[in-house]
Amino acid sequence: MSFVLYQDQFIERNQAKVDIEDRGYQFGDGIYEAMIVYSSHIFLLEPHMKRLERSAHELNLNLPYSMDHLTRNIKRLVEINHLTDGIVYFQITRGAAPRQHYFPENTSSVVTGSVVHKERSAAQGTRGIKAVLADDIRWLRCDIKTLNLLGNVLAKQKAHEEGAGEAILHREDTVTEGSSSNVFIVQNGELVTHPADHFILNGITRLFVLDLARRLTIPVHERTFTIDELMNADEVFITGTSNEVNPVLEINGHLINGGTPGSIERKLIEAFNAEVEWIRALPQTQA
Ligand code: PMP
Repeated sequence: MSFVLYQDQFIERNQAKVDIEDRGYQFGDGIYEAMIVYSSHIFLLEPHMKRLERSAHELNLNLPYSMDHLTRNIKRLVEINHLTDGIVYFQITRGAAPRQHYFPENTSSVVTGSVVHKERSAAQGTRGIKAVLADDIRWLRCDIKTLNLLGNVLAKQKAHEEGAGEAILHREDTVTEGSSSNVFIVQNGELVTHPADHFILNGITRLFVLDLARRLTIPVHERTFTIDELMNADEVFITGTSNEVNPVLEINGHLINGGTPGSIERKLIEAFNAEVEWIRALPQTQA
């Protein structure tokens, strides 16, 4: 039996209902976070919650409970579903109201959450993907993690139709990010990734990998880079909650690093794995 979070309650999934006029459905008017769970520990929970709070603030969306309360309920959702490895999905919409574009008055936000059980070893087996390039047709506030994902969905569909695992987005000549990931290139042993501005989502995994790189004394440059730099990079990889660090071995049919993961990627993956093992070994109370 699977339980979902609805506002402040845990309900059997097949009993849960949301209003047909919820603004999440009608306008994509809401925010979300997806977090990964390793051995019942929610990985990087605190920065995810900080980003959620920021997204709410940027959209003037009222949080119906305190951040502490929301965080407790997310942990409880993991427990009640006996989730050891997988994903917790959490969203807040501006709530249900008769359809009109401007914000409704006296409507409370709607919180929902659910989990997906997924073994990590399965994800590791798929290390290394093909990617395609796609125009970044999204709005100019990609830094906010909103439910409006059509630009991302269309790009991912293009990748899927072309047998690729990710679409790498670009605005004219500048590479921004993946349809559901951040993009890094390696040039002469140094990392380059788009700066955290309004053109990209500042990925929690991106920040974690930047930190890992600094610890490994790999130089890092947060600056824009071109399609040409991408195609000629020594290594290209994406980061994301479920992808972790995933090498991009081919882009639009062009092989990167001869189609095999490079040495910087291998170092980062190794460091990432060590972190996951460390988290797995923590007692449950330190989730
Ligand atoms: N960019 C976009 C557009 C995404 O959807 C995601 C996945 N949420 C990311 C980057 C990676 O973010 P994170 O590392 O927080 O999962």
